[in-house]
Amino acid sequence: MESRKNKFKKQFFEPNYSARKSYDLVIIGGGISGLTAGLMWLKNTDARKTLIIEKNYYTGGYIAAFERKGYVFEVPQLMGDVTGILYNLGVEIELRRYEDTYMRRLVVRGNEVDEYRLPLGPDNFADFLVTRFPSEEKKIRNFMKYILSLFSQVRTLKYSPKLSEKMLIVLTAPKVVACLNRTYSELLDKFGILNTKLREVLETFSVFSGVPPSRASCIQTTGAAITSLTNCYRPKGIFDELPIKMTNRYKELGGELLPKARVEKIVVEGGKVVGVRVEGDDEMIRAERVVTTIDPTVAMRYLVGEEHLSPAYVERLDNTLMSVSSFNVALGLDDKIDLTAVDMDNPYNVVSTELGTPEKLFDGFLEGDNAFSTDCFHVAAVCPSLTIGGPNTVVIRGVPFGINGWGDWKKNDLPRYMAEKTRWGNFFIDIVQKYFIPGLKNHIVVSNISTPFTYARYSGSPSGAIYDMASLVTQFGPRRLNLKTPIDNLFMPKFSHGIYGAMMGGVQVVDLMLGRAVNNGNSLFLPGDSR
Ligand SMILES: Cc1cc2nc3c(=O)[nH]c(=O)nc-3n(C[C@H](O)[C@H](O)[C@H](O)COP(=O)(O)OP(=O)(O)OC[C@H]3O[C@@H](n4cnc5c(N)ncnc54)[C@H](O)[C@@H]3O)c2cc1C
Repeated sequence: MESRKNKFKKQFFEPNYSARKSYDLVIIGGGISGLTAGLMWLKNTDARKTLIIEKNYYTGGYIAAFERKGYVFEVPQLMGDVTGILYNLGVEIELRRYEDTYMRRLVVRGNEVDEYRLPLGPDNFADFLVTRFPSEEKKIRNFMKYILSLFSQVRTLKYSPKLSEKMLIVLTAPKVVACLNRTYSELLDKFGILNTKLREVLETFSVFSGVPPSRASCIQTTGAAITSLTNCYRPKGIFDELPIKMTNRYKELGGELLPKARVEKIVVEGGKVVGVRVEGDDEMIRAERVVTTIDPTVAMRYLVGEEHLSPAYVERLDNTLMSVSSFNVALGLDDKIDLTAVDMDNPYNVVSTELGTPEKLFDGFLEGDNAFSTDCFHVAAVCPSLTIGGPNTVVIRGVPFGINGWGDWKKNDLPRYMAEKTRWGNFFIDIVQKYFIPGLKNHIVVSNISTPFTYARYSGSPSGAIYDMASLVTQFGPRRLNLKTPIDNLFMPKFSHGIYGAMMGGVQVVDLMLGRAVNNGNSLFLPGDSR
């Protein structure tokens, strides 16, 4: 049998950069946003002069997997329904669609542990909740009915509505209007969902964006809940297949790729973008238009430069909160442990302490650090090897973490950095051993730890944000930084976080550049929508 090591080869994409005098489109960043934008553009235009510039030697950004001593570790766990976008782009990839359980969810209250096996399918989910909380049936049914209807109204929205469309929203999407400023906690309150245990289960959905229910947009949270409960996928092979296949298709359509090149300047003349400059090269790469998919503050404040921006826009950038960072522990285990037998073959396995935990953890992040303790935690664990085969792997994730300390320690106090890594690594391993995988520590062969500094270095986002701009209600929808920047022909797709969000950002930006010819201005992917 082919060894795991040979099966996983980090694909080095031959740079096919032709160093043209000028490009129709230059995209900064070869993550999922950038790849989707590049593919959509090439598929819908005759403008073949398209270039993606990526600072790493491979594409995929946060999706990229890595290997240590023959163990393959992935970063994401699963994704919403991106099948329509992939099909439209002609990217063929085998996906695993989860059928039964969405999540194994444990809530710890002192010595008591409540366990829930949350099923897939919004109706099954509602039925499950009713079985567990029969006295709350009416509230549960009303809530689920409402959020399904809310989501169907979200599907009618445009990402950048014209005045006439804006005026219609009150009629076509009244629930969206009512919910625009509402947090997820407020929505639960509105339906009288006050039962502590029921609320603990329902609050799970906001935590996926690293934001507590009291600050999360209820539209975004319920949208994420409905879409992920309806369709939940991952590649059948290693997650890297997604960016690899997207990159191959992009090159097949004539797109150029310049890897190992960091953009250090977005060149603006007379309020209009004219090109970019990469580190170590004085010559500008000229471009008709530029799409930046990287950290918005880095792109606008530093690569464009404040001299080209109004004080109001700079203030907006200053007031934009980037999302949380993460602490990840990737473990390669021996073959003496059966991860299926300990019930780990679920899209997510999540254990947390009781109600109020997300708020406490988020406050810790806002202070720049983290608030994890044995009395306050929220931890996810997944076992990719149960899908992709090969030696046993477990990936443990602690969110939210802040960047404080990690960068300084790494640069100026390596022993401290290593000690903190070990301390927090053991903390998370202990939790997973206690609640999910008995005896875990005895089976560890390889361990790889990522800190907020790892994410900062990897993505180029100084805070190590893993979900782009934080999904706060105050940064939702029209209050998010606009796709169209104040610089002519410079665009910034920032629909939302996550793989679906990154892809939708790519779709939206091309739709905008092509005058709605691709997706008719829709917020979600509805290319068949009549024009
Ligand atoms: C630990 C973790 C777990 C996650 N789990 C999930 C999950 O289960 N499901 C899900 O849907 N989402 C998940 N996400 C989120 C998801 O991976 C991201 O939202 C998505 O991949 C972001 O894609 P992107 O292209 O917008 O950004 P990125 O992936 O950050 O890509 C940006 C690219 O730009 C490059 N770049 C940066 N600066 C420059 C520069 N100056 N010049 C050139 N290139 C530059 C970077 O190297 C990077 O490749 C997870 C993220 C993390 C970190």
